[in-house]
Amino acid sequence: MHEPKVADKNTSFWWEAAPVKPLPRQPLPQKLDVLIVGAGYAGLSAGMALAREGRSVAAFDAMNPGEGASSRNGGITSGSIRPDYATITRRFGEEKAIAIEAEGKIAREFLYDFIKTEKLDCDFQLIGRFTGAIGYDQYEKMARSAEALAKRLGIESCAVPHAEQRSYIGTDFYRGGTVRMDIGGLHPAKFHAELLRVALASGLTVHSSTPVISIERDGAGFRVVTSAGTVQARQVLVCTNGYTDGASPFLRRRLVPVRSRIIATEELAPETMARLMPKLMMMGENRELGFYYRPSPDGSRILLGGRDSSRVGDPAAPTLRLRNGLVELFPELEKVRLSHSWFGNVAMNRDMMPRIFEKDGVVYATGFCGSGVVWAPWIGTRAAYKLMGYSERARTAFDFRPPAFIPLYRGNPWFMPAIIQGYRLQDRIALWRSRR
Ligand SMILES: Cc1cc2nc3c(=O)[nH]c(=O)nc-3n(C[C@H](O)[C@H](O)[C@H](O)COP(=O)(O)OP(=O)(O)OC[C@H]3O[C@@H](n4cnc5c(N)ncnc54)[C@H](O)[C@@H]3O)c2cc1C
Repeated sequence: MHEPKVADKNTSFWWEAAPVKPLPRQPLPQKLDVLIVGAGYAGLSAGMALAREGRSVAAFDAMNPGEGASSRNGGITSGSIRPDYATITRRFGEEKAIAIEAEGKIAREFLYDFIKTEKLDCDFQLIGRFTGAIGYDQYEKMARSAEALAKRLGIESCAVPHAEQRSYIGTDFYRGGTVRMDIGGLHPAKFHAELLRVALASGLTVHSSTPVISIERDGAGFRVVTSAGTVQARQVLVCTNGYTDGASPFLRRRLVPVRSRIIATEELAPETMARLMPKLMMMGENRELGFYYRPSPDGSRILLGGRDSSRVGDPAAPTLRLRNGLVELFPELEKVRLSHSWFGNVAMNRDMMPRIFEKDGVVYATGFCGSGVVWAPWIGTRAAYKLMGYSERARTAFDFRPPAFIPLYRGNPWFMPAIIQGYRLQDRIALWRSRR
């Protein structure tokens, strides 16, 4: 049966201005200092840092460079860590929690500085993010966190009571919220294209549509089999995140690819945008399966994203679910046309922390849990320094043990739809409680 089309196109809105494309075929090197698997933000950032230090380095990507999450995401420079401060303290101790929170600030500044220094044309605006509270209890808690963030790290953040909410967002759905000004938005596909441009100019070679098939120890180095032939590499860095496949069986059993989907509205009237998103900020909310949303860089559309529990094909239901969410927030958009709906994979792991780790000599930079716009360039670059033995520059709170093994899991996340349903139920109960 043919499903009705909910959006005009099922491809990334970002590809309209910055399409992903293959690179000219490169001769296969016989030997490399470093071979990188994956040419998203992490792989390119690492490759660029290595090439700038004179290493012979090539990145191999199974698809067009950027065709993974790096040209499909929301472009929100959140640099979030899923577990909250209290949970990280409980699990890893207070020292680590402080270091992780502080590193979020440094990683965001690293990204902003990089965009500025390299003059990357990627529509970046440090415009701030509003996060909505679904109930007054949640609002009180969030207001305290905003105050603590300002005190601990000097980040400009504040609470917005319900009565003032409409100067940030044209909805009554939330019971107030918080704003932090260290988060902004960029055009993710333009950012990737620009990162690729400077990485190539720095001496990185990128082989597109050339999957790595296997990585084996060979004396002091590695024998890497690709679809184009075999390469000897002194070191290997894996940056495959939500697209990890059988070439990295160790990682595949520890990372769960989960679909995240975004819908884009047709162009809206300027008065509508001024009413719904008066400050053109990035937007988020504090639900288990909360939406993230934002204006398009030209301020003419709304792009709204959230979890997609589908696993195969491109069914209509997840787009309809996001559309319903959009209309619940902004009832006046009931008849809006969607121009685009697309999905990509984010990578979750058991403790929901991004990291660098090493296993059998291979280094991994991965596990960005849906917040890789900030974390992938930062952690990719730290991984490059680690490979070069620059211990001071490689220093990061995210270089630690591999993610935990997931029982009964070999790369097929059969349990995800049930987990997402469970979160959905939790969210419904929380919303119902907060509105009693
Ligand atoms: C819909 C969506 C919305 C998102 N929104 C945001 C957001 O607003 N803010 C934010 O911070 N983050 C967001 N993210 C997450 C962010 O996009 C990712 O964390 C980030 O792009 C990860 O970059 P990466 O380089 O690690 O991986 P990717 O960009 O996914 O690249 C991995 C690459 O590895 C390649 N690969 C895999 N296996 C092989 C192999 N065997 N051989 C060769 N190549 C291989 C793949 O082809 C792929 O290109 C979102 C993600 C999605 C999908």
